[in-house]
Amino acid sequence: MIDKPIETVRILVVEDQIDIAQFIEKALQHAGWQVTVSHSMTQAQIELKRQTTQTMVLDLGLPDGDGLDLIANIRTWSQTPIIVLSARDQESDKIKALDAGADDYLTKPFSINELLARVRTQLRRWAQIDKGDDAPVVQFGSVVLDRQQQRITRDGAVVHLTQIEYQLLCHLVAHAGQVLTHQQLLKYIWGQSYAENAHYLRIYMSHLRKKLERNPTQPEHFLTETGVGYRFVLE
Ligand code: CA
Repeated sequence: MIDKPIETVRILVVEDQIDIAQFIEKALQHAGWQVTVSHSMTQAQIELKRQTTQTMVLDLGLPDGDGLDLIANIRTWSQTPIIVLSARDQESDKIKALDAGADDYLTKPFSINELLARVRTQLRRWAQIDKGDDAPVVQFGSVVLDRQQQRITRDGAVVHLTQIEYQLLCHLVAHAGQVLTHQQLLKYIWGQSYAENAHYLRIYMSHLRKKLERNPTQPEHFLTETGVGYRFVLE
């Protein structure tokens, strides 16, 4: 077995408000991560190219431009997870950020513990992207999904899913921890022309919850992001 040195985990915080930037920097450092702070879009782009970054925390309102443009730019060359911090609590802004390629968002004011939890989730995702890890067997709650056998069991008993339910489940699992917008999911399952039919998703999501959640009315894995989309949570 090859023993690899422990890699430094670096998080880039892009926030122009100095006090908020410092507050986040301290909390992330306290959690054991290396932190780089940028106060502008230009600076953030330089930092991202200069050193490996495992997760980025990005404020949308920056002095030299809109964070949405930065997300779109970064996504043309990097898969680094992006958590958006936004003072805008409009659903349309969250959707724009996610559609541009952000992985998650928090609305200001946010709790620092919530931010730490979201960062941990993205770091786990990054570790998987990095390893090219796409293990065929995934477990959540009492459900086991075997993507090689295309087989799902719950408490050991086989669960039958329709093709669309299965496709949706696999897509959500592949993006665990990430918020996927209605549009992104609809386009993936049914194609561009169905992008406005959010009610299709509600139906299939309720099927998945009934079949796979312990309590479908209080889902632990298939979570609704009101007005935005869905988030699948593994643990
Ligand atoms: Ca700002």
